[in-house]
Amino acid sequence: MNHPPLNVNRERLDADIRRLAEFTDPNLPYTRRAFSPEYAAAREWLAERFRDAGLDTRVDAAGNLIGRLGAGGGPVLMLGSHIDTVEAGGRFDGVVGVLGALEIARRLRESGAALARPLEIVDFVCEEPTIVDLSPLGSRVMAGDVTAEMIAAAAVPSGEPLGEAIARLGGDPARLHEARRKPGETLAYLELHIEQGPVLERAGADVGIVTVIAAPCRAVVSLTGVADHAGATSMADRRDALAGAAELILAVERAASAPDLAQESVGTVGFLRVSPNMVNVIPGRVDLTVEARSTQSEALLWAREEIERSLREIAARRGLDATLEWRHLEEPVPIPVEMQDVIAESATDLRIRAMRLPSRASHDAARLAPVAPVGMVFIPCKDGRSHCPEEWAETDDVAAGAEVLARALLELDAQSRAVR
Ligand SMILES: [Zn+2]
Repeated sequence: MNHPPLNVNRERLDADIRRLAEFTDPNLPYTRRAFSPEYAAAREWLAERFRDAGLDTRVDAAGNLIGRLGAGGGPVLMLGSHIDTVEAGGRFDGVVGVLGALEIARRLRESGAALARPLEIVDFVCEEPTIVDLSPLGSRVMAGDVTAEMIAAAAVPSGEPLGEAIARLGGDPARLHEARRKPGETLAYLELHIEQGPVLERAGADVGIVTVIAAPCRAVVSLTGVADHAGATSMADRRDALAGAAELILAVERAASAPDLAQESVGTVGFLRVSPNMVNVIPGRVDLTVEARSTQSEALLWAREEIERSLREIAARRGLDATLEWRHLEEPVPIPVEMQDVIAESATDLRIRAMRLPSRASHDAARLAPVAPVGMVFIPCKDGRSHCPEEWAETDDVAAGAEVLARALLELDAQSRAVR
């Protein structure tokens, strides 16, 4: 590959990351939930930065913020990620992908390096699980995976109808189909992201090349027993829904930790609702969520069956009624080898230490995979921590990741020029 380094401006990138972090719920840093006032304000700031960078800036029908560089039609090159956060999340998850892409676009303009293809920088709306069953919203709409009916039936956490919330950001749910991308319209999608795990840091690598994105599967479970007096009911007579739920939680942990799966799978019960949740009443009902993820389809299927088997056994033994409904079943998304190789060569050319690794967290790239070849560059984050205020990435690492991403972008553009 024969491309000059883009020389991303670290100071400018660092200043952008710091400024964006200021858009947070002041009582709960760093909280910028999709559709919240903080999010809307951050979006306005970001759109202004896109315009300052000379990008043709718009919000698509789904509420994705898009900045475009270069005229002409035909397939586009796309870079992006998200700027919404979980509650009390971090300053880098998603943010480095959006601001890194912005910095790349600026440097492309400043250096006069003209791409053969138009470039689009996308801040995908609502990547984090803010809307049950619909997040990540923006990338799913682009892939044609969300219908107008699904939007019409949903609301944001404040109670506002989702359609109105999208319109408030400049989207137009009535024209949702216009946000959709067909296969072939996107030449490639590249995303820079923090690893959200400790692998790169432990290996001393500067960047990671993602090989596969794990699939999250989520189930809603309810266990129903009998609410009764906590003093008068003997232990033998109880049908305690929470004690059953406790067993299930441990069964999920065991299923995901089976020796041959432990590298590939994880399992979590992250939400519980106990009824009536009183100090002197035996819990009569528990609703909970089970989440399992894996980078291997077979491992995921095994874990799911194991969780279902455990639930049936626990319920039968304890005299509980149990229901389990998988609401979200995904398949792991392999990253095309050609995309991995372009990124690997870029890192080699730049003398940046890279390693290949799977992503156990999900990303917008996974949702776009059906409509575009996708590639992901990871950078290390301190102690592997993420989705917490301590989340931290060094500016040098963000810049190195952006440099690798930019070089891969230039190479993909050059390849498309060759075959045109
Ligand atoms: Zn993210």
